[in-house]
Amino acid sequence: MRAFSHLCRWIAERCRLIGRTDLVARVTPRHPTPEQLQAGSLVVVRDGALDKWACFRCPGGCGEKIQLSLSQSRRPRWAVRFDWLLRPTIDPSVRQLNACRCHFWVKQGQVQWCRDSGHRQVPNRTNGA
Ligand SMILES: [Zn+2]
Repeated sequence: MRAFSHLCRWIAERCRLIGRTDLVARVTPRHPTPEQLQAGSLVVVRDGALDKWACFRCPGGCGEKIQLSLSQSRRPRWAVRFDWLLRPTIDPSVRQLNACRCHFWVKQGQVQWCRDSGHRQVPNRTNGA
């Protein structure tokens, strides 16, 4: 099923039916080691029926490991869901407080930069530059 999802997503991207996917979800029962956490993949750590953590590499260029709590009892917490093409959507947005300072949303596997992101500015049409 997973391979089928990858194939369908690949074909849909090539045919421009969907946009380019920045992050692809996968589920594991335990935390990924740094070697297992590759750029472009979002690892959901699931313990039984409970989603605990979402781990992925910062898409802003620094590559630092980002770890979001999905646990209902913690604050702050995020929600991650993904479609059958394994494209994750993260709610709310993610803000890095390190030197990278990037701020972004992940929607259907695509990273969408916020205007106040310190890493990469969303094109501003009003500045005339
Ligand atoms: Zn970064």
